[in-house]
Amino acid sequence: MLFDAHSHLDLMREEERNLALSGAKTAGIMKIISCSTSFASNEKNLELAKNNPEILPAIGLYPLDAMDLTPLELDKAFYFFNAEISKATAVGEVGLDYKYAVKKEDQKKQEDIFSRFIELSKESKKPLIIHSRYAQSQVLKMLEESNAKKALLHSFVDSEKLMKKAAEKEYFVSVGLNVLENENIQKNILAFPLNNLLFETDSPIRFSGEKAMPAKIKLIAQKVAELKSLSLKEVEDQQEKNFKKLFF
Ligand SMILES: [Zn+2]
Repeated sequence: MLFDAHSHLDLMREEERNLALSGAKTAGIMKIISCSTSFASNEKNLELAKNNPEILPAIGLYPLDAMDLTPLELDKAFYFFNAEISKATAVGEVGLDYKYAVKKEDQKKQEDIFSRFIELSKESKKPLIIHSRYAQSQVLKMLEESNAKKALLHSFVDSEKLMKKAAEKEYFVSVGLNVLENENIQKNILAFPLNNLLFETDSPIRFSGEKAMPAKIKLIAQKVAELKSLSLKEVEDQQEKNFKKLFF
C-alpha cells in the first residue's frame, strides 16, 4: 500500500482535487495527508477530511505565514488548534524557514512559534510535519531539546549527515519526486534506512513542468525500489508500516 505523507489538497480547485483523488485511488494511494498553511487552509482541510475518508488533515501554520501574525492573532490561532487537534492526524506544515527570515529577530519569532507547535504535538500525541528550509540543523536541535518523539521532516533529503542524525532520533524523512532525477538525493536515499522513509508529492507543487499529483507516489516507490534493489512490494509493505507507526 502507498500513501502521500505531504500534500496541499486545499490549494487545488475542486475539479482538480477530484481528479487528484480519483487518480490516487487508481494508483493505489490509500491515504493522503493534506497539510495546512494558513487560517483558511486549516478550515478547508478539516472540511475536506469530513467528506473524504482518504484525506487526513494536518493543522498548523506555514512558518512564513505565521511570522506575520500579531501576538493576539497567534493566541487565537492556538486556541483554535487546541480545540480542533482531535480532528487532525498531524500538526503541519510547521517549522522554520530562514530563506526569507534572515534577521535574527524574525528567526527568533519563528522559533517561538515552532516551540508552541512542538508542545501542541507532544500534548496531543500527534506527529509534527516539518518544513525546514535553510534551517535543518536548527530544526533538529529544537526537536532534540524539546524531546519531541514523533516527527516527519518534509523534503529533508539534501544532507546525508543530517538525515543520519534524524534517523538516529527515529524521526521520519519524506522524499518527493526529485528523487527521480537528482543524483545527490538518490545517493542519500540509498544510504538512508527504509524504516524511516516516507513518500510525498507536496502537490499541487510543480515538478518538471507538471503539477505533482498524489498518484505520482507510485513513481517514487518504483525509484526507491530500484535504488535499494528491492521489489516494489517490499517497498510498499514498509511504507504501510512506516505510515501507520507515525500517524496512528
Ligand atoms: Zn508543503
